[in-house]
Amino acid sequence: MRKSAIRTLLTDTLAGHRLSEEEGLQLLRVREREVWDIARAADQAREKKAGNVVTYVRNQNINVTNLCVNACGFCGFSKKRGDKGVYFFDRATIQDKATLAKERGVTEICTVSGLHPDFTVQSYLDIYSWIREKAPHVHIHASNPMEVAYAARRSGLTTDEVLRQMKGVGLNSLCGTAAEILDDEVRNVICPQKIDTATWIRIIREAHRLGIPSTATIMYGAYEGEMARIRHLSILRQIQDETQGFTEFVPLSFIHMNTPLFKKGIANAGATGREDLLMYAVSRLFLDNFRNIQVSWVKLGIKMAQLGLLSGANDLGGTMFEESISRDAGAKHTDYLDPQEMGRVANDIGRSLRQRTTLYQLI
Ligand code: SF4
Repeated sequence: MRKSAIRTLLTDTLAGHRLSEEEGLQLLRVREREVWDIARAADQAREKKAGNVVTYVRNQNINVTNLCVNACGFCGFSKKRGDKGVYFFDRATIQDKATLAKERGVTEICTVSGLHPDFTVQSYLDIYSWIREKAPHVHIHASNPMEVAYAARRSGLTTDEVLRQMKGVGLNSLCGTAAEILDDEVRNVICPQKIDTATWIRIIREAHRLGIPSTATIMYGAYEGEMARIRHLSILRQIQDETQGFTEFVPLSFIHMNTPLFKKGIANAGATGREDLLMYAVSRLFLDNFRNIQVSWVKLGIKMAQLGLLSGANDLGGTMFEESISRDAGAKHTDYLDPQEMGRVANDIGRSLRQRTTLYQLI
């Protein structure tokens, strides 16, 4: 795409033009200094849509087990029975962690785990109930469409019924992970045992219909090209048009070091800095029906996360307190980011930091 055409397209987009897949693809493929033009336009779009406040949530992960029946190629977290480092949190441990979270003023507990070979829907219901018992007012942001499908399969239920039961014991919102790349050709290489694209979409729609909001994610930089990325964004935009059930979009940059895909030479060594910036910027411009774009300091590190905030993102995600999935894949900055440091990073680019709830109410 010619440089003048990029500038015209950006001007039109800021004036309300909805980017087509082809136009979004061209933007994702930009390689030279026009990257900064796209980031600048995305930053303007961010200001218009979400203002100048950078938000964060006080949250804590409880990754209940790393034992998993799947073996996704991009995952450095999962283990099989007998492997070194397998763990499983029992009721007492989960409740201790929930109690600690409450004492720390955490407003959101997030549980996503391996697909334990013995889990049924009751296992997930128990986990939410145990957390609820110890932290009654915390927002439970848990499971994802893969876990919902797994619970349904293991219990002979429909996914809709599983979601109803989860909601019944206190699930407040669903994690939009397991989306990875919503393209079955890519999924067949990076996570062949995972639910396919159509199933992910169906379960997300079911959740939204039941009044369970969810996040939306993409895991990029492993194997897919720009075409798969823009198609993924297009699917999310279409669902959001229909349901308005996504609270935010969270681009997750692939952490490669300890993953089977990288070790076998199939995956890249993660996205480049250009790809990271464009992922944020083009998402902001393309997803015109999302208010919130979250930058993942866990995946990018705080310095690159700050640049994400200058390229369309308005949210810094969670304090975390405890994180194992990215850490086990080889990420270095996973275990807690002090809001003071978040504030420093936000102030440094002329923005202020505010704590929020999971559903983006300012606290
Ligand atoms: S990504 Fe999730 S489902 Fe896949 S192997 Fe890892 S823990 Fe299991």
